[in-house]
Amino acid sequence: MLVDSDFHNAEYLSDGKIVFYTGHADSFDAFIDAVIATSLSHEVGHGLAHHKAELFMRGLWLHVLLVSPFLRHVGMLPIGLLLALIYSFLSRRDELEADHIGMMLMAAAGYNPRYAPMVRWWHSLYGSDENAFSTHPSCERRAKILAQDEMVKQAMDVYKKVKAGQRFSFFN
Ligand SMILES: [Zn+2]
Repeated sequence: MLVDSDFHNAEYLSDGKIVFYTGHADSFDAFIDAVIATSLSHEVGHGLAHHKAELFMRGLWLHVLLVSPFLRHVGMLPIGLLLALIYSFLSRRDELEADHIGMMLMAAAGYNPRYAPMVRWWHSLYGSDENAFSTHPSCERRAKILAQDEMVKQAMDVYKKVKAGQRFSFFN
């Protein structure tokens, strides 16, 4: 779903639905296709990796912990902090996984995957700190991870095959 809004984001909801806010694209005139490909493929990555389902399961575990006798012995504050730390850590892991899947997908769709780290790096100029409670890794870290040699090589192999009209499989 394309939403006309200044909101600077894209989001995977569930059931294959992705919301893309026009504000997310408006600020990237210089390489608009790469930005859209990077963002959309990242969101599709969330879908393919079933991150919403995992989030739901984490919510169930949270509920189990909150009603357990264990909570009465330890107290709400330490448990709350611990759960927030675990939730944030797993969320950041999901984001990096969606970045990786997304980079492979954009390559398979014929978009140069070398743009993915550039787009993340460009985001980092707007500032995005990361701490233990961040749900997203910093854009700078995301850019560095996507720019790793092995990651780029893997995606470029797919991209070159697509451009050459060759068949390929992610599951060799
Ligand atoms: Zn994400």
